[in-house]
Amino acid sequence: MSKMYYEQDINDSVLKGKKIAIIGYGSQGHAHALNLKESGFDVVVGVRPGKSFDQAKEDGVAVMSVAEAAEAADIIQILLPDERQKAVYEAEIAPHLTAGKALMFAHGFNIHFGQITPPADVDVFLVAPKGPGHLVRRQYTEGAGVPGLFAIHQDATGQAKDLALAYGKGIGSARGGLLETTFAEETVTDLFGEQAVLCGGATALVQAGFETLVEAGYQPELAYFETLHELKLIVDLMFEGGMETMRYSVSDTAEWGDYVTGPRIITDDVKANMKAVLTDIQDGTFAKDWIKENETGRPRYTKYKEAGANHQIEEVGRKLRAMMPFIQAGKEKVVVK
Ligand code: NDP
Ligand code: MG
Ligand code: MG
Repeated sequence: MSKMYYEQDINDSVLKGKKIAIIGYGSQGHAHALNLKESGFDVVVGVRPGKSFDQAKEDGVAVMSVAEAAEAADIIQILLPDERQKAVYEAEIAPHLTAGKALMFAHGFNIHFGQITPPADVDVFLVAPKGPGHLVRRQYTEGAGVPGLFAIHQDATGQAKDLALAYGKGIGSARGGLLETTFAEETVTDLFGEQAVLCGGATALVQAGFETLVEAGYQPELAYFETLHELKLIVDLMFEGGMETMRYSVSDTAEWGDYVTGPRIITDDVKANMKAVLTDIQDGTFAKDWIKENETGRPRYTKYKEAGANHQIEEVGRKLRAMMPFIQAGKEKVVVK
């Protein structure tokens, strides 16, 4: 078993008295800033004028421009979209990245794929919660925590590991457990997980199941409940007690169908596709394509996004969820902007 770090293993005094700049106030940014602040650390948010800036202000966090925050801080955590980090880093962060400071990430993309090369005299490390930012925030307020990874790319001060662990504790991830990794391992596995299983795999599976039922003449509302809504209930059981707990709770008929039909859906072909996806991530093919997509104004991204939003499962889902306000009751609402 790999070594896990929990709250009682971590002395966070190394981070006390240091100023932490959270660059960006989106999904991860708002969660890190608010959690660290409530954990007693000195936080400032650096973001351009606009929606995020106003939100940070409204939430009562100190907020300034990216350059001002980078200048003021000892620790600079970049929580901008991966594809924007290089430009903002070069223009507004690098000039203030003086010796002994720390540069942080929540995903290794820009370091691993050579987009950002920090000077040798700063610490460079990542702390990456293994969950969406809104849940990093929600779970923290509930006394729980999303588990996280940390990795050291450069240790100029000799304190990089202690800082990373203290930061991970500050955002609540040490409640779930912190695991040490490398930038290479974090980057590849994060991209693979989100593409093959969590986002790409799961949405494609749900959508194909929904379409199969609707095309066979079954009611779209029923198909929505069966393939999307209920997935959350099933995944909650897996989350709490693994496959075994889920299989204990469902009927024996469902469990039997799980065993005999699962391999008919996720065939050896699918696994071969997963291996090909992993290779594309490992050899930089995926990164190159995504960087190019951004440089050319995101034509395919925009097309896919529109098609996704207009799919029948989304139209049906919007109507059904509006009738189930309890889905959001008491929770921080994730508003799609
Ligand atoms: P978001 O897209 O949610 O947030 C982006 C933030 O950056 C917004 O506050 C936005 O402000 C700001 N921003 C964008 N462009 C600029 C700019 N040019 N100058 C200043 N501010 C700018 O990002 P995420 O939280 O999704 O991702 C941040 C990092 O965290 C990435 O490295 C990602 O891989 C990683 N990560 C993300 C996870 C997630 O849950 N989303 C999970 C784990 C890691 P504005 O309102 O002005 O646009
Ligand atoms: Mg990711
Ligand atoms: Mg059933």
